[in-house]
Amino acid sequence: MATSFLTPGPSELYYTVADHLKVALREHVCEISHRSKAFQQIMAHTTAQLRELMGVPDHFHIAFTGSATEIWERILQNLCAETSFHLVNGSFSKKFYDFARQLQRKALKYEVPLGQGFWPHEIDVPAGTELLCLTQNETSTGVTMPLADLATLRQKYPHLLIAVDAVSSAPYPAFDFAQFDTLFFSVQKCFGLPAGLGVWLFNDRCVAKAEQLAAQGHSLGTYHTIPSLLSNLQKNETPETPNMLGIYLLGKVAEDLNRRGIKTIRQETDYKASLMYHALEQHPQLSAFVGEPTHRSRTVVVANVLGRPAADLLALAKAQQIIVGSGYGSLKDSQLRIANFPTHSKEVFEKLADLLLAS
Ligand SMILES: *Cc1c(COP(=O)(O)O)cnc(C)c1O
Repeated sequence: MATSFLTPGPSELYYTVADHLKVALREHVCEISHRSKAFQQIMAHTTAQLRELMGVPDHFHIAFTGSATEIWERILQNLCAETSFHLVNGSFSKKFYDFARQLQRKALKYEVPLGQGFWPHEIDVPAGTELLCLTQNETSTGVTMPLADLATLRQKYPHLLIAVDAVSSAPYPAFDFAQFDTLFFSVQKCFGLPAGLGVWLFNDRCVAKAEQLAAQGHSLGTYHTIPSLLSNLQKNETPETPNMLGIYLLGKVAEDLNRRGIKTIRQETDYKASLMYHALEQHPQLSAFVGEPTHRSRTVVVANVLGRPAADLLALAKAQQIIVGSGYGSLKDSQLRIANFPTHSKEVFEKLADLLLAS
């Protein structure tokens, strides 16, 4: 049996990637010009498949970058001249905030303890803030923001630009694109692809904001500014020589996911998550890290391990060729993180749950 990587990123490759790679080599995807018709067709295909998969409306643009980390920086450069506000509840949301400070924005934050999520009525964004940044699925702690809360925040702050980090959840959540202005992810998590490609979705409000900042003399950065990405997108191109293989593979995997059906994928994700949270409840030494059930991530399940080192359980699983993620940062020795992405089969989840319950 092949080794399963239930790690939250990089994660297991989607099971069709090996075949797509072979075809990519045969079709010279890495060798053609990034200004050629052939590449433009690849870009157009990838974009169309993503639009279908995630229900991306026409007034949202889909641009490609080197990583999600890069998109944190681009969002701050293009959408915020002075003040950003960050919901912080783990390492990834904290880094977004840190970037704002490094870029010398006036970065404000509302922070809650690790393992907790947010209640929209407790969030108070001061007047004058331009951009609200939130991490819909905090990969370090397994805390998610329910979609209804995104809607509440939008209602509460209709004039703010809202940026959503969906790196370890997309395409699982059925996002309503009216609830935010920009959303992004990278491909080595739920899409099961090699790392090195960020996907940045932004709407016309973001375009207007970037144009306004540029007109006022603010720097938007250099090659990956919204205006530069946009003028290239009109030709299905990118400003630089992009990760053509990554863009090609993303289009192929998104097509595979569309064929399987996003509804089915969501149902299977829910089933596997319930199975794992149920196993955690049954085991005397294991428990869900996230106390509030509605804040428990479906795509990254984080477990506390009591009375023994988490490494024992990682080793047990590894002996059965299942690689489970360790806790993040200071929680490394006492937690497990189990990725639940479209490529991870029900069978592997059942096997891991049985293994944990017998341990
Ligand atoms: C992994 C991750 C990132 C960073 O993605 P890169 O592809 O490494 O840049 C950002 N946000 C969240 C929530 C993540 O899980």
